[in-house]
Amino acid sequence: MKILIVEDEPKTGDYLRQGLAEAGFVVDLARDGWDGLELAKDSHHDLLILDVMLPGLDGWQVLDGVRRAGLDTPVLFLTARDQVEDRVKGLELGADDYLVKPFAFAELLARVRSLARRGRTGLEPTRLQVADLELDLLRRRASRAGQRVDLTAKEFALLELFMRRTGEVLPRSLIASQVWDMNFDSDTNVIDVAVRRLRLKVDEGHDHKLIHTVRGMGYVLEAAQP
Ligand code: CA
Repeated sequence: MKILIVEDEPKTGDYLRQGLAEAGFVVDLARDGWDGLELAKDSHHDLLILDVMLPGLDGWQVLDGVRRAGLDTPVLFLTARDQVEDRVKGLELGADDYLVKPFAFAELLARVRSLARRGRTGLEPTRLQVADLELDLLRRRASRAGQRVDLTAKEFALLELFMRRTGEVLPRSLIASQVWDMNFDSDTNVIDVAVRRLRLKVDEGHDHKLIHTVRGMGYVLEAAQP
């Protein structure tokens, strides 16, 4: 899942970018309203996090530009100004949620997960299942045959991608862009290593393997043997 943060305060922007990246999101960061609006229009994001007070365009103007461009990406506003009229104005313009600075990162993360999920289909399942493998998207837990599988944030993101696209052969380039925000030119060994680790955790000790290598093409997760 990809998030765009528009925040001019360097410390806050870097802190958010790092925290969300560690939580398994792919993150773009813009430092002013113009760049933010350009980035929002140029590439797909599952969620926008907009500071209100920004150089160039303010957060409301960015939101307005995004909606005028026909994008219904969910928007979370960050505002230092805890005033009722600000909230009303933002909500009228189509913001989905608010967070007043200063906020706890855990609070932000909870809102981000809820908004990013809501944004995709409106009726997003909170659990994914393939054979006896289950992924609980709310609790961020994986289990196989009822046994908990401990995953890092990246492994969770990788498994979520595989399970959402069950039966589809995913090229390394696609995995790289969706989970690591890398180009195919980057070191794709990272992907092979991560898939191998994930496979050890998911398939080791089970007769029925779910994650498969498709030579020359990529990887696929499926219940039936390809
Ligand atoms: Ca600001």
